[in-house]
Formats: sequence, structure tokens, C-alpha cells
Amino acid sequence: MGFLTDKEVLSLNPSELLPHATPIPTQIVSSDEFTPAPQSPAQKLVEARLLDMADTYGRQHNMSRRQFFQSASGMAAGFVALNEVFFPVFDASRAEAATPAQAQERAAGLKDQFIMDMHTHFLRDDTRLVNFVRSREAVGKAGWNPTLVDKPQTLEDLKFNNYFKEIYLDSDTKIALISSSPSEIPGDWFLTNEMTIAARDKVNKEAGSRRMFAHAIFTPGQDGWLEHLEGSLAAKPESIKGYTVGDNTNKDLAKHPWRMDDEKMTYKAYEMAVKYGIKNICVHKGLFPTATAERWPHLLQYAMVGDVGKAAKDWPQLNFVIYHGGYRWAAGGNVNDGWNEFETTGRVSWVSDLAEVPAKYGVTNVYADVGQLFAQSVVADPRITAAMMGILGKGLGYDRVVWGTDAVWTGSPQWQIEALRRLEISEEMQKKYGFKPLGPATGAIKTAIFGGTNAKLYDFDISKRGDIGPNRDKFSIMKAEYEQRGPARSNLRYGYVSDAVDWSAFA
Ligand SMILES: [Zn+2]
Repeated sequence: MGFLTDKEVLSLNPSELLPHATPIPTQIVSSDEFTPAPQSPAQKLVEARLLDMADTYGRQHNMSRRQFFQSASGMAAGFVALNEVFFPVFDASRAEAATPAQAQERAAGLKDQFIMDMHTHFLRDDTRLVNFVRSREAVGKAGWNPTLVDKPQTLEDLKFNNYFKEIYLDSDTKIALISSSPSEIPGDWFLTNEMTIAARDKVNKEAGSRRMFAHAIFTPGQDGWLEHLEGSLAAKPESIKGYTVGDNTNKDLAKHPWRMDDEKMTYKAYEMAVKYGIKNICVHKGLFPTATAERWPHLLQYAMVGDVGKAAKDWPQLNFVIYHGGYRWAAGGNVNDGWNEFETTGRVSWVSDLAEVPAKYGVTNVYADVGQLFAQSVVADPRITAAMMGILGKGLGYDRVVWGTDAVWTGSPQWQIEALRRLEISEEMQKKYGFKPLGPATGAIKTAIFGGTNAKLYDFDISKRGDIGPNRDKFSIMKAEYEQRGPARSNLRYGYVSDAVDWSAFA
């Protein structure tokens, strides 16, 4: 099962089987891109408050817990709980949680917002899925949930059909880019470049408008990588993406890590990108906490962002979008490591390093995808999310922070969308560090982060979007019908969440 050892797999429970399908995750969710951290005492408190609100407010409106969590009030309650346990950084009130009509009105007023999510995943229908079946069977055999073996259909949730539901029906996302992750083992690519491009073509044909964009993955140093890239570029992906650690899924096998500023090798990819009219180079960075660095020390320098500046300076005609904002403390790290680091030094690895690139190198072509920087911290401790947004806004500019959710590892991305809509940096933090406020959900900054900047990067004319006005496409009609039938959000996170009891052995 990828880079998780058998022991680690046995310490995990499938997140679908958690007792409460809450609107926001109250545990950190994992995927093959990272290992999870156990539920913290604070997250236990969040969950308890959320359940309490579901019972109190749900009962007042004759709603079951499940119905409450599927409602707009349930979503608001998640942020109220986070505010109450941590610090009030979210625009959410008990009144909204207690009054479904009020919450629904707010949600309806925002649902047409233009959201362009350039970081999404689903899994191919072959070898990887066999591995996921095996790990689930292992969990079943361990006796934690014997029904696992009988429910292989849960894997459907990681495939295209459920991806479609969670992205285009359950969330306000208007356009999504399908990404992937490479491996030394051909069968371990999340999707091949042929698959991402075929998915894009299928979706756009089905919708009758441009709803999906696609990455082609490039793998400097692997046998025949440049020819492979050229072949993929001929099929016109919208951008290319690389993993500098080489093989993120099977780090033990990673034999071809590379630097973004390697003139002899990687620059050949940039040259080819320019030749094929590609403007955006996306690079996975960060997600490499201490334990990971100790296990794979030779990959550490590649996970860091020290190679971004020179590449950006040497290639002003390209944009470099750093995925996950280079955030180090996800993927098995502890959000407290990040918060403690910020409190004592005013910095967060390697988000601060990335934010300093423009000043150090005099460049304006470096962008940060929020990815797991946002997803993993906003649940675990929203104060550090606010801090990191401030750091990126100050160093790169808020017009260079772009939306990407890493869905559907984390289920439908709607809770992440709601989190950004509601998030604000506290006045105290703004003053102390010179951060600019994020502003209201539909203000200039959040509008740019959600979609304005991505549209510019990808030369997408927002007036041609297929979900509103005279261009209304098939997906928008489907979504309207879907909403009429009532909320059917699954509220499931399709990763693995750490088993609180067994995980301690590995902490
Ligand atoms: Zn990803």
C-alpha cells in the first residue's frame, strides 16, 4: 500500500467508517500523498461541540444528526465549533447553525461564486485500486470492521463517478483540473497522462463546456522522460506538474529526485513547455515533516523550496505554481510543530521560504497552490492557516495565492470552500506581522484566490463559463435538479484517518 508500511495500515481505519459523518473533518484525513496525524484533544472538543449542536438544533427542526450535518446549518456549526475551541477566525454564528433557513439563504447567495480548483484527484481503475482493496481487507482482517471485506464498493468513491458527484454536484466548484502523481512503478501512477487527458475530454464533451482541465506529469531523470513529456504535450494538457522527490508514493523506490533549477536536465522540460505553449509549471513541494525526513533523508532537500527562485528567474516567460504552498508539517507531521514554529520564530517551514522568493530573486512568476496547506491545517488549528495565508499574501501577494483542494482525498471540497469564505486573520495577528486581512467571501482577495487568478493563469475567459447565463451547460442543469431533490452531500472523507488508539505506537 504505497509508502504506508503494513503496521501503519493496521493502525488506520477507513474514514467512511467513522461514527459521525460531520460536515467538516474532525480528524486529519490521509491519502497516498501523506500519512495522517491522530485526532488531537482540541479536535475531540470540536467534534463534541458539533455533535451537541446537531442534537440541540437538529431536534428543534426535526432533523436527525445526519440530516443536520447535510444542511447548510450543519456546515455553519462546524465553523462555530472551530471558533469556540480555537479562536474566532471564521465568520460563522450560532444563529446560523440554529436557523436552517438563514444558513440556506447564505449558501444560496454564494453558490454561483466562480471557483476554479486546479488541484483535484481521482484514482485509475486498476492496480492502485487493488492496493486500496488490500489495505481495506487488512483492516477488516484486523477485526476493527469485519464488514469491510464485504463492501468493496466503497472504492467506487475514489473513482470517477463519485469524483464527478463530489466536485460538480456537492460543491460550488465550477472548473476543476485533474492532477496525478507519478511513480517508478508504472502501475502506481494515480492516473497516466493519457488518463487525465481522456478524463478532461470526456467531461467537457459531456458538459458541453470547459469544466475540466488536465495536468500532464513530467519525471526528469526517468528513462525516456523527455520523449514521454513530448508525447503527452501533443495531447494538449493545460499545464504540467512534477514531483521533485521523484516518487512520492513509493519513497523507498525514489531513484530520480530532481531540482527545479537543474539547468542540464529540468530546463529541457521548461524549453519543451514553452515550445508547446504551456505557461504554467506546477510542482509538488512540502509535506515532509521530521519523521519523513529521518526516514528518507536523501529526499529532504528536494521537498524544500530552495530551487524555486533561480528557476523562476531564469524562466520569466513561465509561471511556477508551488503545490501545497511548500507546507512542511502535513503528511504525518503535527500541526503544533507548525504553530510552535510560527509563535517562536514568526516563520512556517517552508511557506515562509517560498514567500521570500520574490524579494530575494526579484521575480513575480511564483504562485502558491493552497492544497494541503489549507486542508490539513484549517481543521487541525485554523490559527496557523490564517498565519500562512498572511505570510503568502505578504510575500507573494494575495494575487499569487491560488485555489486547489486536493479533493477528493478529503471528500467533496465544499467544506474547504466554506472555510476560506469564512476565514479571517485576527486583528492582533494582522498588526503583529503586517498581514493584510483576507476580507469578505466575495471581496477582491478571496475572489482572486478562488478563481480570478487561476483564470488569468490559464487564459480562461470567465464570461464564457458554462454554468451561468446564456451558456448554461448540462452540468449546471444537472446541479439545479440535484439541489431540488435536497441535499445529498455524503460528507465522507475518502482517505484513511488515523486510529487514535493504535497510532500512539508510531507517534
Ligand atoms: Zn495532490
